[in-house]
Amino acid sequence: MQIEIKPLPAGLYFVSTPIGAARDITLRALDVLASADVLAAEDTRTLRKLMDIHGVALNDRPLIAYHDHNGAAQRPRLLKALNEGRSVAYASEAGTPLVADPGFVLARETVAAGHKIIAAPGPSAAIAALTVSALPSDRFFFAGFVPTSGGARRTALDELSEVPATLILYESPKRVHKLLEAMQLSFGGDRQVVICRELTKKFEEVIRGPLHNVIGELADRTLKGEIVVLVDRAPTRAATAEEIEEALKERLKSMSVKDAAAEVAKEMGLARREVYQAALGLTKDT
Ligand code: SAM
Repeated sequence: MQIEIKPLPAGLYFVSTPIGAARDITLRALDVLASADVLAAEDTRTLRKLMDIHGVALNDRPLIAYHDHNGAAQRPRLLKALNEGRSVAYASEAGTPLVADPGFVLARETVAAGHKIIAAPGPSAAIAALTVSALPSDRFFFAGFVPTSGGARRTALDELSEVPATLILYESPKRVHKLLEAMQLSFGGDRQVVICRELTKKFEEVIRGPLHNVIGELADRTLKGEIVVLVDRAPTRAATAEEIEEALKERLKSMSVKDAAAEVAKEMGLARREVYQAALGLTKDT
């Protein structure tokens, strides 16, 4: 494998790094790390280690720590480098920067200062978890870490319970049991959940099932490592006869029986024939 060291066009490069297996780095990410004028990292030791594994030398290039606690102080330094026409590569501790990781304010200020942002895309625990979950992937909602305090968490989970998409949550292993209990109150125990632990690592594990089963299965276990929790969307509730009637009555004011039935059947996901019979019944009544 040949890492290319070449001048990079000026701009801020967000570089995704592995979430476990070190070889999950892309060749382009290595090229960017090898070539950027300035490197910045949430954890400089983690980035140094990754670069060592892949034979990318730092040489005399600056490696700047940039994380949640020093962002305001460090941003001027990174923006100065961008203003001087240099390339700056930023990596968070693992996965994709900005995904439950620092980077957003830096991105905003970089754009405000008229500079380009370039992605060197790669791993993210959210997408890896969605991939192995076997839950519907047509629509998904990344909720990150939900609040840890009782009231705020309840509100957040109640809101999430209505989202018509597969939910993706991050949680620490210490709090995952409490999160699942709280989820049961907001979502009900029958909702399908998937717990993905230590993805791409030695002790990778995926636990699937209805929420109440998973809670039971994990009751005596102390979970270790990194965890993503996924939740299936709520099953669509079948429309009641009254709701079908209401919807038909509204449409029959301006539509033929056939068109009204077709539209209501489509909207409510029902068999057209069944709705047509109901519509006929309504026109006979009047
Ligand atoms: N930026 C990262 C990404 O793109 O996924 C996420 C960073 S966030 C601070 C760390 C959280 O991501 C962990 O608490 C866990 O929920 C999840 N995570 C990271 N690596 C993981 C892995 N290998 N397996 C399962 N979850 C992981």
